[in-house]
Amino acid sequence: MTAETIQPFRIGAEWRDGGGECIRSVYAGDGSVIGAVARATARDVDDAVEVAEKAFRTSPWRKLRPDVRATTLYEIGRRITAERQDLAHLQMLDSGKPLKECQHMVDNAAYFFRYYAALCETWQNEVTSPRGDYFSMSLAEPFGVVAAITPWNSPIMAEAQKVAPALAAGNAVILKPSEETPLLALQLARICSEAGLPEGLLTVLPGYGEDVGAALVKHPGVRMVSFTGGTDTGRAIAGVAGTRLIPVGLELGGKSPHIVFDDADFEKAVGGVLSGIFGSAGQSCVAGTRLFVQKSLYGRFVDALVERTKKVRVGLPDHPATQMGPLVSKAHRARVAGYVDIARQEGGRVLVGGGIPDDAKLANGWFYQPTVIEGLPNTARACQEEIFGPVLVCLPFEDEADVIAQGNGTVFGLAAGMWTGDYARAWRVARELEAGSVWINTYKQSHIATAFGGFKASGIGREKGFHGLRLYSQVKSVFFGMHDKPLGL
Ligand code: NAD
Repeated sequence: MTAETIQPFRIGAEWRDGGGECIRSVYAGDGSVIGAVARATARDVDDAVEVAEKAFRTSPWRKLRPDVRATTLYEIGRRITAERQDLAHLQMLDSGKPLKECQHMVDNAAYFFRYYAALCETWQNEVTSPRGDYFSMSLAEPFGVVAAITPWNSPIMAEAQKVAPALAAGNAVILKPSEETPLLALQLARICSEAGLPEGLLTVLPGYGEDVGAALVKHPGVRMVSFTGGTDTGRAIAGVAGTRLIPVGLELGGKSPHIVFDDADFEKAVGGVLSGIFGSAGQSCVAGTRLFVQKSLYGRFVDALVERTKKVRVGLPDHPATQMGPLVSKAHRARVAGYVDIARQEGGRVLVGGGIPDDAKLANGWFYQPTVIEGLPNTARACQEEIFGPVLVCLPFEDEADVIAQGNGTVFGLAAGMWTGDYARAWRVARELEAGSVWINTYKQSHIATAFGGFKASGIGREKGFHGLRLYSQVKSVFFGMHDKPLGL
């Protein structure tokens, strides 16, 4: 693909060029346009739903034995792995994330297809023990057409996390990737098609949220919506889905507390806090954005953290030594910088960072320095609102009760982490934290088979593991009569 050509998208057998309207993908490393994709509109949604409904009803996919569906899913995973380097490179250009992170995301995308293929092989229906002259069982059935809407921060991985289980469950999927990062989803559609997925079962519509996304959620043919993105968008989608009475899976924002008790392994905790916030330049839903350090350790810990932060290597995404790349867009960098300004106005002290790096090599990209702020109460905007950038706020705490109250003192509940030498305490605190994932003496680990999702305003439903397959299935109970005599009143 070149920056001049407009890559079309496909609905069924038909290629669409967006009537000349396109979405440009910009490389955050230097601001250059790397490609353009045809822009879908709400009008394309009607056609895509019709094609998906037809594919769902007429192709054998939903009726295949799950272990047979698995063979196609394995093949998709195999092909993603075979194209790993090219996909990771394209992903780096599209999202601006360091190449290493992109390779990891491509690997994970392949794992999702392999994992859900394996679940298909072993998936069992429930047989209930009889309470009369009948035999009863509960079966998983697909919904039909599922809309999957994804954000820009983990392209291909976030998409595979939805598409693999939704297809595994027998659905047809219409995927709307973020307008910031449309390229990888189109590659995924191509790979699925080349791997033998029947036509129409996966359609990718590169378009804008308020246009294509909103039209998908409203469309009467869409039977389930799976969304990952910001909490405000999720709330709007849930409102429409509530009126339509269709199920939603919502993976939303976070403001995760990262807690360090005074008995923690100091070095491990510093490293964990650093990677928990500055990995992906803070553009991670589970980033540990609020650091709580026990008062007796606070000064020493924050000093060490600031020294380590000064050494974080901010650089171009394709440089092997880069530890932190740029932000996804100029507008997003302005938003992050705006939050740091707000923190200053609210009385926060910027201990390190707080501006654009002074490095000529990075001048054309959307870089921002890793930033550490202290002196704010937990109620400050920088402590309550999702910044989605490399900005950490540090807060001291007294004891377990205090840190549980402050940690939970947010509308969000996506994740939390803690460092302590006392596992009994870790268990107590983990049970009290209102978060979908809690990490103890580690941070940001994720497992394909371990459920993921949010409490409170961080979401509804769980992805990954068997929960991920259930999200895309509805249960039907079937009874077989075994009566010797006719039923009577
Ligand atoms: P966003 O909410 O702006 O957009 C996400 C997607 O929704 C995009 O594809 C967008 O086009 C679409 N969209 C926007 N308005 C819509 C509407 N009215 N109807 C339907 N679709 C619409 O989020 P973003 O800026 O792309 O991503 C960052 C956000 O995603 C952060 O809040 C982050 O925490 C969250 N996120 C959450 C998880 C998780 O698993 N919990 C993972 C990654 C990102």
